[in-house]
Amino acid sequence: MALLQISEPGMSTAPHQHRLAVGIDLGTTNSLVATVRHSIPEVLTDEDGRSLLPSIVRYLPNGHANIGYKAMAARTTDPKNTVVSVKRFMGRGLKDIAHVENLPYDFVDGGREGGHGMVQLKTVAGVKSPVEVSAQILATLRQTAEDALGDELVGAVITVPAYFDDAQRQATKDAAQLAGLNVLRLLSEPTAAAIAYGLDHGKEGVFAVYDLGGGTFDISILKLSKGVFEVLSTGGDSALGGDDFDQRLFCYITQQAGLAPLSDVDTATLMVKARQAKELLSTNEETTVEAILKSGEVVQVTITAKTFAEITQPLVAKTMNAVRKAMRDADVSVEDVDGVVLVGGATRMPHIRRAVGDFFKTIPHANIDPDKVVALGAAIQANLLAGNRAAGDDWLLLDVIPLSLGIETMGGLVEKIIPRNSTIPCARAQEFTTFKDGQTALAVHVVQGERELVSDCRSLARFELRGIPPMAAGAARIRVTYQVDADGLLSVSARETRSGVEASITVKPSYGLGDDEVARMLQDSYNSAQVDMVARALREEQVEAERILLATQSALDADTELLDEEEQGAIARLMQGVRDATARSNDTSIDADSRQNVLHDAVQALARGTEEFAARRMDKSVRKVLAGKALDQV
Ligand code: ADP
Ligand code: MG
Repeated sequence: MALLQISEPGMSTAPHQHRLAVGIDLGTTNSLVATVRHSIPEVLTDEDGRSLLPSIVRYLPNGHANIGYKAMAARTTDPKNTVVSVKRFMGRGLKDIAHVENLPYDFVDGGREGGHGMVQLKTVAGVKSPVEVSAQILATLRQTAEDALGDELVGAVITVPAYFDDAQRQATKDAAQLAGLNVLRLLSEPTAAAIAYGLDHGKEGVFAVYDLGGGTFDISILKLSKGVFEVLSTGGDSALGGDDFDQRLFCYITQQAGLAPLSDVDTATLMVKARQAKELLSTNEETTVEAILKSGEVVQVTITAKTFAEITQPLVAKTMNAVRKAMRDADVSVEDVDGVVLVGGATRMPHIRRAVGDFFKTIPHANIDPDKVVALGAAIQANLLAGNRAAGDDWLLLDVIPLSLGIETMGGLVEKIIPRNSTIPCARAQEFTTFKDGQTALAVHVVQGERELVSDCRSLARFELRGIPPMAAGAARIRVTYQVDADGLLSVSARETRSGVEASITVKPSYGLGDDEVARMLQDSYNSAQVDMVARALREEQVEAERILLATQSALDADTELLDEEEQGAIARLMQGVRDATARSNDTSIDADSRQNVLHDAVQALARGTEEFAARRMDKSVRKVLAGKALDQV
């Protein structure tokens, strides 16, 4: 009989006891689980000795599912119920995936929260969400690990593309929980690869990690200094990967063979053939694709490595554009880069290696199997987080925010609180105040994006801070704190510092920013920086106009008796001038610059015209305070 170890409540486990933790690479195409045994990271294999688990789930009419290799063949025979590349749908709404072609599934809009939910797939076993499908894959890996290690796991580190937004990360966490895994941390894939290569043990330097998998492309620029990793920038495309090379080749084959539009089954058959041909062309000069369609038609197309490289060159160029942008974001030049790491099965293609090597003027590191490197790095990280730390292994990992996080301020403007590419975990606070006298509530609108106007950014969440004690405009002190945890999830809190009233929210968008969207929003922000500046200046002037009108009105309401009739008339005229200028400031037929100038002049005139009134009010309140008090009491 085995003896059970029982530890006292609150005591940590004995130092010699190794806590079982795993790293999981939940890939678009293939998933893997790895662990650290006797200080060496290794990928765990299933009972047949295989390390890769194809990320495929086939649903059966009896409600059960086949996962991995068992589901693979059904891609062609039962494509509607065989879910591949489910990672592309994680945390995505129906319209986010509208651009992905040749998908054989029956999608259902998530429907929750007014159609803002994640897409769902209709299968013979019922409607399944991408989270459930991913959970099937994770549960299989968990079983593989528990069988191999002979015990339960304390937790797992799961990797996600660096570009994954909040909704995608949350969906990944949800899937892990559904699979009964305790998530120690989500870690970005390129960062995991860097750990696997032990870049942290080397000298200081800047490294680029180029990861081209089945469905995602990630480029990360990492900086190593004093044993600490910092991700200087990340970029990429969560809808570009080896699958797209299959797709190009598939199109080429159908063109060459002069095929009419194909049935779902024939499409799936040819896609599998296209992928096999692509993989062969990494090591062969030419190959021939042969297939028999359902109609009995025989397809036979020969393709050379050179032709394949030519027809897929635009895809390679697309990745290199993202590389250039990430380099710009990190503010490093090719000469600053000390090493380049290749990750992902698709980096086996020679023309990818050439393009990366040519760009960085160096031979990229590729000696660890590009399929396994991410899982190995995740295992090392999991081992540390589970508390199996070896001396000297106490480095820190930093990740970055892909797009700035901000707050809506008066006039629909965005105040950035956490700028893009800030390292996480991080927290930043900023103080705000009330706009109106006696204002007791403040609306907090959390947005993400680089533009100056709220309408051009993505809305993430809204909440209200209520119960602010009534005070004069500008007297309340409201501290808004944005906090992004190590998994990249955001929580926002607001606190009025005098009264202590507080409100907070954890941002859990029903679905988040797509990669294309991130890219587009960045592009927009570069293109429109000038327009934005003018628009911002105008909006600020409009807000100032509104503020001064409100302030003047409440002063008049309180202390009209301090003014004679003529003075009252003069102020009323100046206020009308500001109102007129405000109305005209929205007339887009006049250029924004001059609208702002006219408004500015009107606001300044009102400010000057009420100076004397303000001075009298000040005197009055001082007299009121002093009334009845002896001089030594003051
Ligand atoms: P993911 O991280 O998306 O799960 P992987 O890193 O496992 O993906 O890479 C899968 C991709 O790598 C697939 O598109 C696959 O066809 C491609 N791939 C694997 N081996 C080769 C090869 N020898 N040549 C070209 N592409 C390959
Ligand atoms: Mg991968």
